[in-house]
Amino acid sequence: MIIAIDGPAGAGKSSVARACAKKLGFKCLDTGAMYRAVAWLAVKEGVALDDDRALGQLADECRIVFEHDAGDPIAKGISINGHDVTEAIRTSEIDKAVSPVSAAASVRHAMTAQQRRIGSGGDYVIEGRDIGTVVFPDAELKIFLTATNEERAHRRVRQNADRGVGSIEYAEVLADIIRRDEADSSRGCAPLKAADDARIIDSTGTYIEDIIENICVLAHMTRAEASERA
Ligand code: C5P
Repeated sequence: MIIAIDGPAGAGKSSVARACAKKLGFKCLDTGAMYRAVAWLAVKEGVALDDDRALGQLADECRIVFEHDAGDPIAKGISINGHDVTEAIRTSEIDKAVSPVSAAASVRHAMTAQQRRIGSGGDYVIEGRDIGTVVFPDAELKIFLTATNEERAHRRVRQNADRGVGSIEYAEVLADIIRRDEADSSRGCAPLKAADDARIIDSTGTYIEDIIENICVLAHMTRAEASERA
């Protein structure tokens, strides 16, 4: 079973996806981390961020690996071509570089193929921007998680402070969130949008635990309906 969780930056997708996966015994895939890793590699290798062909080659040939503790289905880190980039992909520099990199059709093509390969290996909660629309349009459960710009910026500031990486200036984080949403929503290839059959959840002013509980209940109901049909 695939649970797709899409939505704009800072909506709480990662926390919700991880907690749901833990509760349900599913694996979890953070597709944003994959685009960030490719952006990190492009910056490191000095590839122009508007060179679709060179970016595509990088994305086709790179090796992205999620690092897990033994027996833990939730990744604790990510590496690309052997470099541990778990923290390096969360800087303000990569926040900026990831928009043009993820807008390149060649990069999306390579990442979508990898994500489908990973997700076809069992029960997954997969979070991103285009999971319910493009990567897994037949996902059994689709959630579109959103919140106001201000709430998302506050959350991202707290998250960056906890991680000790990325900006903790509210105004800068808010501006970045608005800029990234605009870039993600307006790109020609696989833009950020809710699938027609997604459930829209606005998490503004809501306890994250309630959202997690809500999604887990929906997952159990979806599974029960599927086995009744079978
Ligand atoms: O989820 P996160 O904020 O880490 O994603 C970083 C960026 O990766 C997004 O702003 C977007 O440009 C890109 N992305 C994407 N498609 C996905 C996941 C992320 O374009 N499925």
